Amino acid sequence: MVISGKELATEMKRQMAERVKELEGKYGRVPHLVVVLVGDDPGSVSYVTGKAKAAGELGMKSSTILKPSTISEEELLGIIEGLNRDREVDGILVQLPLPSHIDADKVIAAISKDKDVDGFHPLNVAALWLKQPCLLPCTPHGIIRILKHMGVEMAGKRAVVIGRSNIVGLPVAKLLLDENATVTIAHSKTKDLGSVTREADILVVAIGRPKFVTADMVKPGAVVIDVGVNRDPETGKLCGDVDFAACEPVSGMITKVPGGVGPMTITCLLENTLECFERNMAGK
Ligand code: NAP
Repeated sequence: MVISGKELATEMKRQMAERVKELEGKYGRVPHLVVVLVGDDPGSVSYVTGKAKAAGELGMKSSTILKPSTISEEELLGIIEGLNRDREVDGILVQLPLPSHIDADKVIAAISKDKDVDGFHPLNVAALWLKQPCLLPCTPHGIIRILKHMGVEMAGKRAVVIGRSNIVGLPVAKLLLDENATVTIAHSKTKDLGSVTREADILVVAIGRPKFVTADMVKPGAVVIDVGVNRDPETGKLCGDVDFAACEPVSGMITKVPGGVGPMTITCLLENTLECFERNMAGK
């Protein structure tokens, strides 16, 4: 069965659009997301455009601050400071990657933790690991939402996550652990990766290598979540980290790229923006 993240995202967005309308009636304004884009990397421009468009579709306000890649770290930190103070800004997102002369960790830490819609601020990361309320990182949260929506039982199941990045691999492993799965994290130094992945009832793949996971690495009937966004070197089309055509018949459920995890990432970003707005307006 092919899991459509797009369908779930559409339903969640419909419900959020209604909530935005209600809140506009109550507070006289709508949630405001500000995206800061440094440079003109085509991939980043396309992500930022997608986020702004999705916010607009929900009736939210979105602004994009475009800055050349020559901007100094100090100037960028000054912009963030201004956005932190602005009561009419609810969510702040700095599109990554940043140019090498800017310390991305410093920039993320400068964003108010209460406006950190990406969930990357160190205090939000700490809260996630301490199981305290926080803004959850969007892609990992989207994956858990997909699994719950599909009725996938996680408690007691063997979950394997390939990839240990701060934005996907590590947090999704923690969220799976919170759902009482037994979690293994694999990475580039893992020996005999196939023997590890074949144990997985739930396999989450976040590597960044086109069609890396082959059918022989998948346990029959497993749920396969493909996070990768790559260009297929043969066709030039978007593809995931999983060889979809080969793995789909072996799997029990599988996401596709595009149309799987990606739409849920944006939806969870908008959900975080709405949450920040509600807390901001309630003065919490
Ligand atoms: P990343 O920071 O580059 O991390 C990649 C991880 O994969 C690392 O932990 C690395 O291991 C591991 N890895 C690389 N080669 C491997 C191999 N041959 N065998 C096993 N593990 C290997 O990437 P990321 O930011 O997590 O992103 C991963 C993919 O997800 C990318 O394609 C990205 O575009 C995509 N993505 C999609 C969304 C979405 O919304 N759909 C959101 C975020 C990211 P080491 O730690 O040992 O180096």
